Amino acid sequence: MIAEYRKMARTSTIICVAGFAFLLIVMPPKENVWRSGNLFQMAIVATAMAAFWFAFWSYAKAKGYSGAVGLALPLLSVLGIIILLSLRDKTLQPNKPKISPPNSGVQYKCVDCNKTIHESELKNDTLLCPSCGGHVE
Ligand SMILES: [Zn+2]
Repeated sequence: MIAEYRKMARTSTIICVAGFAFLLIVMPPKENVWRSGNLFQMAIVATAMAAFWFAFWSYAKAKGYSGAVGLALPLLSVLGIIILLSLRDKTLQPNKPKISPPNSGVQYKCVDCNKTIHESELKNDTLLCPSCGGHVE
């Protein structure tokens, strides 16, 4: 994660939660805050909602995504938020390239001991079994 954006996301989450908590605990609105004419309550709700969206925007940025991803996913409600939280962190080091599986490449079979021999096991490209020295094909 990009530390700077993660810090912004954390701070705005705290502001959002604190804003709504303050409103509900200290002065629960008796009606729709926007119609109440109570400028103080409106300011708190506006700040908390802005912090809500800013938290998701910066969280997406912290994981190396476009901020638009963070703004779009919460529109899908809880599901979108879960998706956002579980998005792969693009800022992490990419996984090491996979080593080719051992069964790739040409394989031979020893006619004497019936052992399967991978081409990398053959010495100096001779078609001889490394175990018994028999012929492989
Ligand atoms: Zn053999």
